[in-house]
Amino acid sequence: MFSCLEELHQALKNCRLCPLAATRTNVVCGSGCHEAPLFLLGEAPGGDEDLSGKPFTGRSGKELDEFLKILEISREDIYIGNTVKCRPTRPSVRGRYGNYANRKPFSSEIKACFDWLEEEIKIIKPKVIVTLGGVPLSRIMGKQVKVGDFRGRKFFSELYGCYVFPLYHPAAVIYDRSKREVYLSDLIELRRALKEEFV
Ligand code: SF4
Repeated sequence: MFSCLEELHQALKNCRLCPLAATRTNVVCGSGCHEAPLFLLGEAPGGDEDLSGKPFTGRSGKELDEFLKILEISREDIYIGNTVKCRPTRPSVRGRYGNYANRKPFSSEIKACFDWLEEEIKIIKPKVIVTLGGVPLSRIMGKQVKVGDFRGRKFFSELYGCYVFPLYHPAAVIYDRSKREVYLSDLIELRRALKEEFV
């Protein structure tokens, strides 16, 4: 449907297919290398991304920097994007960004945003999609799954014609220290695979 990312992003910025259009500041399009072997797929934009219009900025940007350091790659070498392109919010009296806090996207929002990600993957044609957390993994697998059942090892997706490498969401590791060691060993396995298999 779209011949290049610029065309896709232009159309995406005008999307009003779900109620998140009414509360967003910016649609957060993906960014990075257009021919990247690695597509890093997050959940949805948070407050910082909503304000900047760029994925993985602010707090999640710091998590990404740490992640890339372990993988020994740079932001320019990969493509990063989210499953849902606008920020899902809930009312909060103590929100960091006014009266709203971040929340996980509803399944109706994931469904509404479905085609945008399909088009993005078709254009990038990655060798591997690295999913961060349960939302993107379930989206790619087309059913509700637990990250713990799939994390740390690749599998081939016939649908997308590439490998998928599931990881815990970095924020989940911060809140649950028991997952940290597992997360680090998964990253080391991903680093090995990136050097030996996905080049
Ligand atoms: S979340 Fe996706 S479907 Fe909903 S308005 Fe934003 S771009 Fe459109």
